[in-house]
Amino acid sequence: MKSSLLPCAKLFCLFTTVACCSDAVAQYDGATEAPVRFREGFESITEEDSESLLSVLAGADFAGRGTGQEGFMKAAQWFSQRLAERGFQPASEDDSWFQFLPFNRTEIDVESSKLSIGETAVLTGNDFGVENYFGTFDGKLPVTFARVTKKRPELEDGAFAGRLLVVRSATRINANDVLIVKGRPACVFIVDRDSRVRSQSVSQLERTPGTVPLAKLGVTMANKLAAACEISDEFFAEKNPEKNQLMTSSSEADVQLNVEHESIDVPNVVAWYPGSDESLRHEHVCIGAHLDHLGLQQGSVYPGADDNGSGSTSILQIAGAIHTNTHKPERSVLLMAFCAEERGLLGSKHYAAHPLRPLKDMVCMLNIDMIGRNEESDKEPASENENTIHLVGSKKISNQLHELTMAANKHVNFVFEYDQEGVYNRSDHASFAKKGVPITFLFGGFTPHYHKPTDTLEGINFSKIANCARLDYLTLMMAAEHGHFEKNAGDDAKDNQ
Ligand SMILES: [Zn+2]
Repeated sequence: MKSSLLPCAKLFCLFTTVACCSDAVAQYDGATEAPVRFREGFESITEEDSESLLSVLAGADFAGRGTGQEGFMKAAQWFSQRLAERGFQPASEDDSWFQFLPFNRTEIDVESSKLSIGETAVLTGNDFGVENYFGTFDGKLPVTFARVTKKRPELEDGAFAGRLLVVRSATRINANDVLIVKGRPACVFIVDRDSRVRSQSVSQLERTPGTVPLAKLGVTMANKLAAACEISDEFFAEKNPEKNQLMTSSSEADVQLNVEHESIDVPNVVAWYPGSDESLRHEHVCIGAHLDHLGLQQGSVYPGADDNGSGSTSILQIAGAIHTNTHKPERSVLLMAFCAEERGLLGSKHYAAHPLRPLKDMVCMLNIDMIGRNEESDKEPASENENTIHLVGSKKISNQLHELTMAANKHVNFVFEYDQEGVYNRSDHASFAKKGVPITFLFGGFTPHYHKPTDTLEGINFSKIANCARLDYLTLMMAAEHGHFEKNAGDDAKDNQ
């Protein structure tokens, strides 16, 4: 992640006209009316629609839209139906709305996994997390607890044979570690920070069946297990011990660990609105947002109302505005709702590597992520951010696209915070910027609800969602009129080739 080197200058739109929005519209003070040829679509975007669309996207049916989970597939189906209603066409092969990408899913079977000592259930399925390796174990084992430094302890061959090894390491540890290869435990739990334990992983990495069944445990659960084995309830509290420490318990743990592994396909939703000018319609402007979030993890739903139900909502509103407006874009519009952004921008990377239309014909790519809350931190109360938005990366590849965004904003009048927060590489536009496509990224900023189960509808600023939709609807329509942007000479542009 690049860090932001710019000072905290806010770019105000210097606009003084008073001819403005009377009743129906809710842009910010000082905004001027949208250009007549785009006005019908612009005025069709409402706060009420932002709320009703987001209520579905962040609702119980889609269970947080986790890539590889049922909720994501339901959301993708629903999303494509909403696009069909808005006059869009399927953009993938064989007239499909879906561009599928292959994933490997590794998942703890929470029903059948558990650990007990005697009659006492100590750990249940939701306490375990997946690692890069997987396997299955069912049996009784004595337990060794280990805290290790970078310098591993001297071990005899088979030192942990026939035992469960619960280990926290100051450095990364995997199934090829000397502790495991030489120590040969029957089963391994790797201890990690609580927040890094996930019952499911979805990735495009190859997963290897381990030589030893292996799972992760959070520090809290590992300490609970150590306490149940009469070691200590804070054995694992310290991450960087001064020296290696091994503790052997005489308690026997009854371990049932089931880690499932399968290949799955998960789609980007891809949609096309053909341009009105036959000679220009091969060129296209692109708007996108990631549809996925963290889904169901450790038995909790992460609804992702802001991240990124809000951006998904706004691109549907943009689709509706394009369809409503009588004056149609000359160039085509490609609209994408990506999967697996939360897994490392995998959906957008896949599209950029396997474009359904030539990337040289993509005029620009506008990305929207997390625009549903007012930014909030210790330094900045949410109340200061009612009408602010981060505009990210719009100058990096083409200043012309930046100027066009500023012109569009005269009709919305966001207060832009430009390229703060160091997020240029942290959402899906980055996959296109790397290919030299001019991009803009609208981002609302971080809040205490970021990647928490509390990212619900509560506290959402529906007006901000509608205004992001208005801004990017205008930017998109103006870009569809403009065609290819001149790329900047110099380092920024070169960085992104
Ligand atoms: Zn996001």
